Amino acid sequence: METPANSSQGAEEKAQSSLDFIRQAVASDLQSGKCSGVVTRFPPEPNGYLHIGHAKSICLNFGIAKEFGGRCHLRFDDTNPSKEEQEYVDSIQEDVRWLGWDWGPHLYYASNYFQQLYDWALYLIRAGKAYVCDLNADEMRAYRGTLREPGRESPYRNRSIAENLRLFERMKAGEFPDGSRTLRAKIDMAHANLNMRDPVLYRILHAPHHRTGDKWCIYPMYDFAHGQSDAIEGITHSICTLEFEDHRPLYEWFIENLPVPHKPRQYEFARLNITYTVLSKRKLLDLVQGGCVSGWDDPRMPTLAGLRRRGYTPEAIRAFCDKIGVAKSNSTVDVAFLEECLRDDLNKRALRRMAVLQPLKVVLENYPDGRGETFELPNNPEDPAAGTRAVPFTKSLFIEREDFQEDPPKKFFRLAPGREVRLRGAYLVTCTGVIKNDGGEVIELRCKVDHATRGGSAPDGRSPKATLHWVSASHAVDATVRLYDRLFAKPNPDEYPEGADYKANLNPRSLVVLEGCKLEPGLKEAKPGDRFQFERQGYFCCDPDSGEGRLVFNRTATLKDAWAKIQARTGGGKIVKGEG
Ligand code: ATP
Ligand code: MG
Repeated sequence: METPANSSQGAEEKAQSSLDFIRQAVASDLQSGKCSGVVTRFPPEPNGYLHIGHAKSICLNFGIAKEFGGRCHLRFDDTNPSKEEQEYVDSIQEDVRWLGWDWGPHLYYASNYFQQLYDWALYLIRAGKAYVCDLNADEMRAYRGTLREPGRESPYRNRSIAENLRLFERMKAGEFPDGSRTLRAKIDMAHANLNMRDPVLYRILHAPHHRTGDKWCIYPMYDFAHGQSDAIEGITHSICTLEFEDHRPLYEWFIENLPVPHKPRQYEFARLNITYTVLSKRKLLDLVQGGCVSGWDDPRMPTLAGLRRRGYTPEAIRAFCDKIGVAKSNSTVDVAFLEECLRDDLNKRALRRMAVLQPLKVVLENYPDGRGETFELPNNPEDPAAGTRAVPFTKSLFIEREDFQEDPPKKFFRLAPGREVRLRGAYLVTCTGVIKNDGGEVIELRCKVDHATRGGSAPDGRSPKATLHWVSASHAVDATVRLYDRLFAKPNPDEYPEGADYKANLNPRSLVVLEGCKLEPGLKEAKPGDRFQFERQGYFCCDPDSGEGRLVFNRTATLKDAWAKIQARTGGGKIVKGEG
């Protein structure tokens, strides 16, 4: 028989088992009293724009803080002045806020701790646990050994404490050129973990820093800065990606061997990979600098700035991060799943509009010249509260060119000579004539309206198979529409032919620009960032290039996954590949 105490403990265990392994650790540390509150951090290096992979880390760190009543810091890991810029610092803050998270007053920079880190380096020297080494990078690599062979000790390893202090101070004073000396921890050159073979703590780099200017010409390495920054800030759970698992012993060595005010713990989770996408900052920078895209915010980029410009909502990205979960082994998520999360969100809130992307003129021969009427069409059939809008209807209209075929194949149910279709919310019309240019290209259609079908339904109950969207020719507003598709044509862009690189897999049709698209008149008021569903076409977002009489829309997503068929044939599910 279970005692009541046991059964409530059981319930608690059950509740915890539905949590991912990091949340379980947090819950149990709080319960056992190991920590009294949870403090996490998101630690970007300001050397690029944030991408959807970072969103996973942001949602995890800020999400845990929120769920467990703690706080999450935003800390710039700015220890490498040669690649870091203020532009990135600004964009990162904008993107974290846009995603819906708030660090409150807890904005920090690793560079704020340069003095403290320097003092701790002196502490290690005085304790005989760090030394100045004169090996250059190549020599150091040669001394390091391999996974199978132990390393060799540096000839500078046994310098006296006094000499180390003197040399380290002279390094700081700028007396030596870049790369000529380093400060290294004295740990164990035979250690099975290569990170423990006397890792470098400081290097010489005569480069101005975006925050500290010329004050420093020695900079701490990531491993020496990260854990100690966590300790200074009182971070309880330092969450990072799996590639840092092998660094954890070093992280702990510093925490054990320094008089830090607090002992954080590191946890590792699997980084996000997505099909048809690259998520390496180096490659993203390469795409920007190589002109393969228009910038960090090109709507084809997986950056948060790019996704935002494409029309993604923060809610959709958060839902995606939530649904993919947190695991301990690497896997790749199908990009179609990200797009599904987006459609789920936009379907609920995007206002419906009619937009003809490739116009074909239709003249209604039995509709009076000069007559006009308006139809009230729902803004969103999924949400009656979204109301209706008035759409003008006249004798001359535009329909989508691909909605007509002169000689239709068997399964084509849209407009063709002699055939009747419904114009959304307006009338049933029948095609009575086709006008062509000298080249034999169809340039205009003649149709007959059935006046008894006003509003789009016939009194005799007949219902054509197709309902087309339309725009009144005299009211239409012109727009440029950019049809975006996946930036890469291969599920894994890193599979490329010998002698090529990942850019060989760029999708040549990732952007198709359409000019002279005809939109219903209300869209003239659209502002950059406004999102709509263009009926039968997909979701579109007004681009910041709009303004001064110009309208530009970006296709955010098609209504259905056009790639799904290909996926089904190649056996792709939601999670396509597990590696762990
Ligand atoms: P770099 O290769 O330049 O270090 P990075 O992608 O690790 O790039 P950081 O700015 O160091 O960039 O990342 C900040 C945080 O985001 C880190 O904690 C990192 O682990 C996490 N992160 C980065 N990429 C991903 C990803 N694809 N999935 C999940 N988390 C990620
Ligand atoms: Mg990193």
